[in-house]
Amino acid sequence: MAASHAAVFTEVGKPLEVCSFDLPEQIEPRAALCRVRMSTICGSDLHTIFGRRREPAPLILGHEIVGEVVALGVGLDRDGFGSPLRVGDRVSWSIMVSCAACAYCDLDLPQKCVKLRKYGHTCCDDPPQLTGGYAEHIYLFPGTAIFRIPDAITDEAAAPANCALATAVNAVETVGLRRGETVWIQGAGLLGLNLVALCREADAERVFVTDTNPQRLELARRFGADACWNSADPGIGRIADRVREHTSGLGADVAFEVCGSPQAISDGVAALRIGGRYLVAGLVSPGSDLGLDGNLLTRKCLTLKGIHNYHPRHLGQAIQFLDRHAARYPCAELVGAAFPLFQINDAVTAAASGRFVRVAIKPVAV
Ligand SMILES: [Zn+2]
Ligand SMILES: [Zn+2]
Repeated sequence: MAASHAAVFTEVGKPLEVCSFDLPEQIEPRAALCRVRMSTICGSDLHTIFGRRREPAPLILGHEIVGEVVALGVGLDRDGFGSPLRVGDRVSWSIMVSCAACAYCDLDLPQKCVKLRKYGHTCCDDPPQLTGGYAEHIYLFPGTAIFRIPDAITDEAAAPANCALATAVNAVETVGLRRGETVWIQGAGLLGLNLVALCREADAERVFVTDTNPQRLELARRFGADACWNSADPGIGRIADRVREHTSGLGADVAFEVCGSPQAISDGVAALRIGGRYLVAGLVSPGSDLGLDGNLLTRKCLTLKGIHNYHPRHLGQAIQFLDRHAARYPCAELVGAAFPLFQINDAVTAAASGRFVRVAIKPVAV
């Protein structure tokens, strides 16, 4: 039986360990086996590794992946676009698989399915074991939305698209961004950088970005932000005042919270115009107390919405977006360093340093 290697997380404080797993001899109907070309280390994986989030263990982490089809189960011959799917195709897929039958699936919120399975979140003691990205191979459950990646999209742009970019596509759709609107994006991590590009291509009038990391703010500028402010700058004052100054005192039409800081919300509410819309996507830690004056929601007639992950169709839109527009953006710089699988712990250290938007694992030379 052929074997494959994967990096296994066992407990907080222990290095990840590269282990050998048997490749499945049979692929069940509508499932697939892929070779991992590249995985990128998401901030959420670092939360697990450093004990800020609890996941089942032992676990093969990694959900931001671009792969190559090695085997297809019976009945899987088309991708999410309806195009033929074949062995050898370069593909991305939704980070989660849902049941298509529960109440949330019926409500068109498959990412909240009661039987949800997420790649990089499933104990690797259970078959089919190889369900995370820090591995040479990954098994795709039946029902996974798989999309072929056009040749023009690099692995560096494609790997993280099924996490941050697809979520950003959902954010822009949910908030109903319209041409000519002014936007404040709170956070210049990968979600924020993708939002800058999406807002630019949606013909936003002006895009403001805040973060505490000067390198990321510089990258946001190069993605097309009109003004970038460092919210840790002692002389910056209240950012909401800056936003109003740049909008003739009116305030922004739309704000996106993608920084993970609950304190950002009251400033965002203050910066929105009357009738403005606020999309919250970054607050994933329990206890994110907003400390918000609710009176402002009423009197300013604001809309406040949250999203978590995305619908598989948003991943299809994300890939189409990259195909059309990625060449105009410095996507190659999103991945600042790459490591082979056996150096997974060096890769984690590099990712945790905060010096790079993403660090990649390349399990085998491609
Ligand atoms: Zn991710
Ligand atoms: Zn379901």
